[in-house]
Amino acid sequence: MKAVRFFGHKDVRVVNDMVKPVPKGDEVLLKIGGAGVCHSDLHIIDEGTVVGTVFTLGHENAGWIEEVGSDVKDYKKGDAVLVYGPWGCGHCKPCQQSKENYCDHQSEMAYGGGLGLDGGMAEYMLVPSSRLLVPIYDLDPVIAAPLTDAALTPYSAIKRSIGKLTADEYVVVIGVGGLGHVALQILNEVSASSIIACDVTEEKLAFAKELGAAYAVNSKDANAAEQINKITGIKKAKVVIDFVGATSTIDLGTKVVGLDGDLTIVGLGGGHYQYNMSGLPFGVSMTNPYWGSRVELMEVVGLARQRKIHIEIEQFKLDQANEVYDRMRNGKIKGRAVLIP
Ligand code: NAD
Ligand code: ZN
Repeated sequence: MKAVRFFGHKDVRVVNDMVKPVPKGDEVLLKIGGAGVCHSDLHIIDEGTVVGTVFTLGHENAGWIEEVGSDVKDYKKGDAVLVYGPWGCGHCKPCQQSKENYCDHQSEMAYGGGLGLDGGMAEYMLVPSSRLLVPIYDLDPVIAAPLTDAALTPYSAIKRSIGKLTADEYVVVIGVGGLGHVALQILNEVSASSIIACDVTEEKLAFAKELGAAYAVNSKDANAAEQINKITGIKKAKVVIDFVGATSTIDLGTKVVGLDGDLTIVGLGGGHYQYNMSGLPFGVSMTNPYWGSRVELMEVVGLARQRKIHIEIEQFKLDQANEVYDRMRNGKIKGRAVLIP
């Protein structure tokens, strides 16, 4: 079968000779409908965040059950499902709470399909346990695949701050890409705060306005922080969610977040922050959340089934993987790219 394989630093190839796996025990074989292309793949490919193994990329996956192992009773061929991405041990306390994104054993093992183990940029994908599947019922797997990360990660990040996202407050979203464009829609559904979106091109800023941002500020402008602080006034922003994570965006976040606010850095852009007692307003919580829980993914499916969020999708074939990664490097994907076998 065909698959998009990561061979090492900047070496991604589409191969045709992968053997179609056979599920046993609690394993499930999925016929892939779509695999989302996440910027985290670029951190793996270009910066070596996962080293020493060859594997199939794709950690945002959805499809139809093709075959189940002998222990799987609850799914049958043809059921449409999402694959929950962070594969924990399944037994520790966070895993029992469905928070496999914070599994105690995360540092000991390859941690998910497309992240050191074979992922979903292929015709078929083996999922190690039916526990990791979430049914999507009437949703199309092609459209739904990015829910597993591009929607789940911002949803979980926003939920952490939900008590602060009241109608009298401002929330700043930095980066209106795959994750950020869904974050804007989730904020519109679950909070009443005014949204200020930041990106670096006029197209992305216009896109943010279409998705409900009240204000759009180009973070490349030297005075971006002043522009935002002029909007928010003396109280500044209650919540800042940074989907870039570069030193410049973290710096922007520290300048616009207000007293007792949340500065949430989701982006893995390799940025640095030098802690300085007087550099942040008092009471600010700075955090770097990772993905979301299985239960939160079910909630995200609920939002999508009610058409309260939709992922803007550009569709490509598996053979176009390298072309898509190049477009993403240049900020040229609107919403999310999905590879379809
Ligand atoms: P993307 O490429 O789809 O979007 C990134 C967006 O940021 C683009 O619109 C780009 O124009 C914009 N941008 C770039 N530099 C900017 C700047 N200085 N100021 C404002 N905007 C800027 O990426 P994505 O797939 O949405 O991922 C975003 C980040 O989140 C990546 O670093 C990715 O690795 C990370 N991520 C983290 C988690 C997690 O659990 N923490 C999960 C998924 C992705
Ligand atoms: Zn665990």
